[in-house]
Amino acid sequence: MEVSVIGAGLAGSEAAWFLAEHGVSVKLYEAKPSWKSPAHKTDNIAELVCSNSLKSNDTARPSGLLKEELRKMGSLLMEAADKTKVPAGSALAVDRVLFSQYIEEKLKNHKNITIIREEVKEIPKSNAIIATGPLTSKDLFDSLSSLVGEELYFYDAIAPVVEAASIDYSKTFKSSRWEKGEEAYINCPLNKEQYETLVMEIIGAKKVVPREFEEPIWFESCLPVEVMSQRGLDVLRFGPLRPVGLKDPETGKTPWAVVQLRMENKFGSAYNLVGFQTRMKYKEQDRVLKLIPALEKAVILKHGEIHRNSYINAPAQLEDGMRIKNLHEVYVAGLLLGVEGYVESIAMGLFTALHLWSRSNGVDLPPPPPTTALGGLYHHISTSLGKYSPTNINFGLWPPLKEKQKKRVRHLKLIERAVSSFDDWLNTIGEF
Ligand SMILES: Cc1cc2nc3c(=O)[nH]c(=O)nc-3n(C[C@H](O)[C@H](O)[C@H](O)COP(=O)(O)OP(=O)(O)OC[C@H]3O[C@@H](n4cnc5c(N)ncnc54)[C@H](O)[C@@H]3O)c2cc1C
Repeated sequence: MEVSVIGAGLAGSEAAWFLAEHGVSVKLYEAKPSWKSPAHKTDNIAELVCSNSLKSNDTARPSGLLKEELRKMGSLLMEAADKTKVPAGSALAVDRVLFSQYIEEKLKNHKNITIIREEVKEIPKSNAIIATGPLTSKDLFDSLSSLVGEELYFYDAIAPVVEAASIDYSKTFKSSRWEKGEEAYINCPLNKEQYETLVMEIIGAKKVVPREFEEPIWFESCLPVEVMSQRGLDVLRFGPLRPVGLKDPETGKTPWAVVQLRMENKFGSAYNLVGFQTRMKYKEQDRVLKLIPALEKAVILKHGEIHRNSYINAPAQLEDGMRIKNLHEVYVAGLLLGVEGYVESIAMGLFTALHLWSRSNGVDLPPPPPTTALGGLYHHISTSLGKYSPTNINFGLWPPLKEKQKKRVRHLKLIERAVSSFDDWLNTIGEF
């Protein structure tokens, strides 16, 4: 059997690997370098477009658990992330260049994979996985829309990256929140006055304005700093600039607010401002970031940006939340399905490939239980009711426990239940 995987991003690379490892001949199409989305900056396969963090690696959290489930399923991208990680406390952050290189090497050297650098403009009629992501090129998206109806969208913003050598380290301290793991973050403390000035300047700064016909719909867990600032003076201080769990060794106290910097690459030559996604104009970013004392002389290597993310109404328009109706085994994968986040997109690459492969082999694959991380996402894309909007993995995707419990115990039990039901499911589906 031969399958075309369109888009060698996160979902497409994972799907291609799974199929190739299962003896399927894969043609993996990637539009770069001849066409590049506004957010993709390199020609690399599996490019991380914004943060280099894949979020929590703690298996007591839904995001960490999803990673563990993917590892159990032999995920190539989790292997790449584990091999190329950089210090980030309890999060899994990677050197984005090494991460992409690791994946590209593996895919290039697989005897069942042919990588074709070409923009695909039409949805194939059979045996394909469309993993072209939230910034799919126009012709292909038009072709997809003609098959699946309305396009849905939301806005996402990118955080700036600064050059390590330009940070004033005398105004920072190194520590992870609650001193968990290595001293992974560089913390830039702000006192009350500095914080309030920063917020007011963020509010007043010139922003990139969406075009008239585009109503900005933000993804709540990735809001730009200016949207948060406008919601109230303290919103940033209780959000990405929260100081809890951090003590400035110079004062012995918790600062009023903290901008955290996370290492971008293994060399430690660049740092990204954690949670500081922004749509301020470039010149305004240059000016406003300098109000953070440690960044007074910061050189911005990559400015923050906003982008429109497209996705489709998977539960309403696709069979099993993934398959295009009236075509033969043509699937949609990754963020296009209405999941949000790197690892969620990877998961929805692996799962569509597993689904396609099972059906092609006449195997009736039982869906992963909704009590698992993978199952939670699968049930979201296949059975969501009401207005459909993207989600990342979280406790709220799982069916509640029967007994009422305090939060800590409840979350622990939900995780325990997820682990055992996932292992049962893997045993049921056997050697796949
Ligand atoms: C601006 C922005 C910032 C984001 N920031 C984060 C973040 O910080 N953390 C996070 O967890 N998630 C973030 N996301 C959300 C999401 O996790 C990523 O978009 C993720 O990369 C989606 O994975 P994917 O595989 O679905 O798509 P992608 O990784 O985007 O892969 C799609 C691939 O398809 C290619 N392609 C597109 N059209 C064609 C075509 N016609 N023919 C062939 N190839 C094509 C593209 O070049 C690309 O390589 C962000 C999204 C955006 C847009």
